[in-house]
Amino acid sequence: MKKQVAVLPGDGIGQEVLNGALDVLKAVEDQYGHEFEIVQGKIGGAAIDHHGTPLPRETLDLCKQSDAVLLGAVGGPKWEDNPVDLRPEKGLLGLRKELGLFANFRPVKTFESLQDASPMKPSVVKDVDFVIVRELTSGLYFGEPRERRGKNREIAVDTLQYEKKEIEKVVHKAFQLASERRKKLTSVDKANVLESSRMWREVVNEVATEYPTVEVEHLLVDAAAMKLVYQPKQFDVIVTENMFGDILSDEASMLTGSLGMLPSASLREDTFGVYEPVHGSAPDIAGRNLANPLGMIQSVAMMLRHSFGLHEEAEMIDQAINEVLKAGYRTGDLSGHEKIHPVVKTDEMSDFVVE
Ligand code: ATP
Ligand code: MG
Repeated sequence: MKKQVAVLPGDGIGQEVLNGALDVLKAVEDQYGHEFEIVQGKIGGAAIDHHGTPLPRETLDLCKQSDAVLLGAVGGPKWEDNPVDLRPEKGLLGLRKELGLFANFRPVKTFESLQDASPMKPSVVKDVDFVIVRELTSGLYFGEPRERRGKNREIAVDTLQYEKKEIEKVVHKAFQLASERRKKLTSVDKANVLESSRMWREVVNEVATEYPTVEVEHLLVDAAAMKLVYQPKQFDVIVTENMFGDILSDEASMLTGSLGMLPSASLREDTFGVYEPVHGSAPDIAGRNLANPLGMIQSVAMMLRHSFGLHEEAEMIDQAINEVLKAGYRTGDLSGHEKIHPVVKTDEMSDFVVE
């Protein structure tokens, strides 16, 4: 298989974690005889410094010509006081919007060998394996009007608006995913109070008729927040609107132990996607070879699965990570309080996975 992959390291630890991820991709290439052509571009702070904008035209064109994008992280103290349009984060939001990526997938999977790194009880986090599918380009974060009103600006307004087709698109994605997994879909809303949630529920029930093998459950967002911490095992695929997904996915991330472990994918109707770790640029540890590369490496596995349909290759990466963790190798963020494991550097960790 021959594919072009756009690689955007961005800022902070972005480059460090991507180096290891690209080594892993190379290993897959060698072992399976695939050809992945890597094209590099700038985004975020690095792009502001070189091109005067967080999302240069050439970076966007590069992504549009490619089959998938691997992204490190954007942001850092250097650009914090920039005007809004010259902030690194603007590059990421612009990229998602320009590429039409409406569904964000965040898998939450606990590794048995990492139980000592999670703040949760082992009996609760053992065997947790679900994916949150969050609508990414509509809802409360985009609705108009958004403004301050009144004589003294004493009224603030945001708008939660969804069009039926926006819901349909993301719900289809979630059903497809559920039908490839354990065939259970939990739709999260607030249908007891919100009109948009009542329509959300209607659409889910309509789309459900096209996926008869998938069991559907509706859950109010408050109940979902509670279940995520006391019965997380019961979930397979969760689908929800933009803001609920934002909040629930950060809550869920703590089940696994470290932000450094988590991958994500931003997708649309075709097979194209942008794959990046959930963590940010981590300026406090940047440039010191300390970052955990496993979130970025698992993002490569997601790319192989969702954009290229290479399931066996993706599985091999997941297994390799499992083996390395079982052998006791940990980056600093995973070392826990007892420090019983050898602490390894970013590049050593990815070398072990390659091996
Ligand atoms: P952003 O605004 O870019 O999302 P943030 O302030 O939310 O950034 P991160 O940059 O993700 O935060 O970092 C939060 C904390 O987690 C930091 O202390 C950082 O060192 C740590 N951290 C994040 N990613 C990793 C990683 N891959 N390996 C180790 N530690 C990490
Ligand atoms: Mg953050």
